[in-house]
Amino acid sequence: MIPDNSSRLKFKIESEDKRSSARACTFTTLHNTVQTPVFMPVATLAVLRSQDTTSVEELGFPVLLANTYHLLLRPGTDVFTKFGGIHRFMNWNKSILTDSGGFQVFSLSKDVKITEDGAVFRSYYDGKKILLSPETSIRTQRIINSDIMMAMDQCIPSTSEESLCKNAADITARWAERSLTARGDSPQSMFGIVQGACFPGLRRSSVNQITSLPFDGFAIGGLAVGESEDERKDMTEMTASLLPRNFPRYLMGVGTPIDLLEAVYRGVDMFDCILPTAMAQQGVAYTSHGRMELRRGIYKFQDRPLDDSCTCPACSRYSRAYLHHLTKTAEYYGGNLIGIHNLTFYRNLMSTMREHILNGTFSSFYSVEKEKLMLDDDEHPVTPPRKKKKIGLPSLGDYEIVRQDAGFHSIRHISSGEVMHSVTDPLVEANTLYINQSDIRRMLESIDENELVIWDVGLGAGTNAMAAIFECEKIYSETGFKKGVRIISFEKDLDSLKLAAKNPSLFNHVRHPAPSSILKNGSWKSMSPDIEWILIEGDFLDQIENAPQPHCIFYDPFSLHTDSPLWNYDIFKRIFDHCINRPVKLFTYSGSTMVRGALLAAGFYTGAGAATGPKTETTAAFSSPEVKNPEIELLGSEWLQKFFRSSSKFSSKNSKEENSFIEQKIINHPQFKNKTGNDIHGK
Ligand SMILES: [Zn+2]
Repeated sequence: MIPDNSSRLKFKIESEDKRSSARACTFTTLHNTVQTPVFMPVATLAVLRSQDTTSVEELGFPVLLANTYHLLLRPGTDVFTKFGGIHRFMNWNKSILTDSGGFQVFSLSKDVKITEDGAVFRSYYDGKKILLSPETSIRTQRIINSDIMMAMDQCIPSTSEESLCKNAADITARWAERSLTARGDSPQSMFGIVQGACFPGLRRSSVNQITSLPFDGFAIGGLAVGESEDERKDMTEMTASLLPRNFPRYLMGVGTPIDLLEAVYRGVDMFDCILPTAMAQQGVAYTSHGRMELRRGIYKFQDRPLDDSCTCPACSRYSRAYLHHLTKTAEYYGGNLIGIHNLTFYRNLMSTMREHILNGTFSSFYSVEKEKLMLDDDEHPVTPPRKKKKIGLPSLGDYEIVRQDAGFHSIRHISSGEVMHSVTDPLVEANTLYINQSDIRRMLESIDENELVIWDVGLGAGTNAMAAIFECEKIYSETGFKKGVRIISFEKDLDSLKLAAKNPSLFNHVRHPAPSSILKNGSWKSMSPDIEWILIEGDFLDQIENAPQPHCIFYDPFSLHTDSPLWNYDIFKRIFDHCINRPVKLFTYSGSTMVRGALLAAGFYTGAGAATGPKTETTAAFSSPEVKNPEIELLGSEWLQKFFRSSSKFSSKNSKEENSFIEQKIINHPQFKNKTGNDIHGK
């Protein structure tokens, strides 16, 4: 059961992005109001490495994180008792979040003994034996007097075997209850932590256990401890989607700027990480040019700011050459300056993401920013990007991922050499060709039935179907249509979608629960309103008459060259006949004379569709003039002349008789008669 949000944090959602799970929220602690997404710099020992509290406060960070484990050992709870807590002790007037200490005990201590009670370890400081239990952790956090306390959890390497991970998740749930009891009547907030490593089932049950307790927020723990980047993204996405909507979500210990962008995209609100200050001490800067390593000789003589788009003290006062020098000589001030810069970069990234979420422009920002954040110094890359990016892109079965010069990724069918969406970004092409032309909103308004049916012939990597789902989600979020949409995809080889789904960092459209559901269950359904996606596996030729009649068809199988049976007269005639009682529109990327001829012969009113990339013409076909898009002009006498002149207007497999039959059908198509009933082709 999900508890009411009668939390101590007065959590509010201000805006949710329509095309991702990103959201902008606020909550109020005992000290201040916090706007999310928020990054919390790490002040391990009540100090940020090489930084003073005043500068960090001036940068506008509303929360710092301090480590209970370290503070328990030094200075110890007596000092905090004397000062009434950490705020006055370190002269910080904004919020503090303390972790439980559990993570450090498990990762830093030797001879740790874990029992149901807690963890017994030896202090690295004076060798004393210490018991860290939910009760002692919370007692310490109460004395530190942080704004947000973390329940004690058991974090183990995310690569551990499932039974160990299950035990850790179960003990975490029992410790969560004990932590809440130990809070007593303290006004401090407390977050529960979800464990479960990279096992979806364990994550799910851990979410159920932890969210049934009256916490003020929930953290995703047990990541950034050994798993791969993709596993981390998947687990973050899955766990965030299971957490209750009206509580803050905190991804612990993550991460690099790109990690933050990816996790915000997946619905996370809060982050902490030592990277901006810790990496600064090694001379690593995060900049609008990408990640820069200032110890490299290339910067020795550079008389220009570290990042010309930054106004921090390091960038406004000093040259790259000077920062390079400070790094090489390991001067304290180098870590301070680069640290200030990195913190500024993180703060700007968070506030920019927030602005875009509030303005409804987050998804386009996300696609552009992602490319930027993955760069090494773009002017002086450590390894030439061409070499780096061409090596080792994943493949599956007869498909491989290829990177296009324009910067996006496509999927290539290895045996035919055909690349799906080779010139234009797959989602852009799907929108141009299928989504914009089909105009789902207008179809929903005009159909008599309660459900709009779309056929997606040639599922491929799922781009067209997902573009349709994104469009429907947008329509439903803006209007209150009562009608449903059912998208039916036809495909015989799912490897291409599987490959895209395994590489969400390269394909935006698979960052949604639908693709994994369609791969697993053959279907996906939105909660509400009613968008349904169904997969019909097998050869399209065998399925046509069994599938529900469509209102609209995205016709996107492999080309004539690779899959010729899908482009001939017979197949278009079968589609036309199947839709006899329901006018249908068909859009396809092919603009070939033969395909247009086959569509006309089958009975379709046929015209030139939208241009995409280098293709000036694609094809749009309508089973009846009533459903024709007003902006689309049907082919006229000029095209017909071209058809007669063409040497490749018929399939090479056709007999002479078949060809003349098709030609007669085309000549007699009503589309080529003018209003008075005369032929306009003049033959
Ligand atoms: Zn700077």
